[in-house]
Amino acid sequence: MDTFKTIWITREEGAKAQNPAEFREITPDDLMEGEVTVAVSHSTVNYKDGLAITGKSPILRRYPMIPGIDLAGTVTQSSSPDFREGDAVLLNGWGVGEGHMGGFAQMARVKAEWLIPLPGSMSAAEAMAIGTAGYTAMLAVLALEKYGLSPNDGPIAVTGASGGVGSVAVALLAKRGFEVVAVTGRTAEADYLKNLGASDIVDRAEFAGDPRPLAKERFAGGIDAVGSKPLANLLSMIRYEGAVAACGLAGGFDLPATVMPFILRGVSLLGIDSVKKPKPVRLEAYERLASDLDRDKLAAITRTIGLSEVIGVAGDILAGKVRGRLVVDTAK
Ligand code: NDP
Repeated sequence: MDTFKTIWITREEGAKAQNPAEFREITPDDLMEGEVTVAVSHSTVNYKDGLAITGKSPILRRYPMIPGIDLAGTVTQSSSPDFREGDAVLLNGWGVGEGHMGGFAQMARVKAEWLIPLPGSMSAAEAMAIGTAGYTAMLAVLALEKYGLSPNDGPIAVTGASGGVGSVAVALLAKRGFEVVAVTGRTAEADYLKNLGASDIVDRAEFAGDPRPLAKERFAGGIDAVGSKPLANLLSMIRYEGAVAACGLAGGFDLPATVMPFILRGVSLLGIDSVKKPKPVRLEAYERLASDLDRDKLAAITRTIGLSEVIGVAGDILAGKVRGRLVVDTAK
């Protein structure tokens, strides 16, 4: 490939703001160093990609940059003994699309240690339908299970339920037999969430007010993609010795909570980071995703767009207008 298509972001020397993202062609020489070159067939748009493309948060750490924190495709060149030409691979995180050129391109050059093999039963498009959002949902479910929660303990609340992390979390928890309460601002999406396995839908307005130190014990646990007051309210509603896996900040990065749930109910707050998660945990997460995530449900939460459409949807995901997951087909 002499030239290939990409989303390209620059910033002038000394300028505070980055230039608007462009859809353009570059050459392989424009890419950064890495042992493995991948022909990227699919990527996906996560919340963090929305922040990177719009420049609303300082996500990008170098310019020029290709955003896109996830990619999947086929190895075309490798100087690493771990990968050979023709291997199907995927990548989530590791600062790709932030400090190293990322997935919104038809070609990527990356470190071998960042790649994992595409699970045999999964297509590149399915891996990107999961993407960092879905893989993070899996990490959150694994964290709750390792903490010791099981379906017998009671219902699990999922906030930001119609979003990427939330939709996959609802499906995964339901598959394992948990009673799932979906907390959403889009109550009109009740059918969508029930089809994914939610038993109950709660308006997020109930979680938006000033949190009380302790509220009625409603949930054995939770997965929170929102932060801020909704997370503080959720913590106040967790039953004795329950736990919440916190993975997002779609509602804000503050946490206006008290210590009361922790010291009077023994509640635990489990932090989830997907970006630097070691390889063995990634492989465990993908093994579980391959077995637990119903492909029909995955298809039902996914919309496919072309690379040229990525810039247009960046603002939508930040505005909470994207339902489920967006897959990017780089050939389109
Ligand atoms: P999405 O935009 O797809 O979903 C976020 C959802 O949060 C929205 O769909 C909406 O759900 C809800 N929401 C949005 N704005 C608000 C608000 N102001 N108040 C309350 N709820 C709101 O994003 P993702 O699912 O991809 O990511 C969710 C969060 O998780 C992001 O903050 C992202 O950065 C973070 N994240 C963290 C990772 C980690 O490693 N820790 C990895 C992946 C994601 P609804 O309409 O149903 O209410």
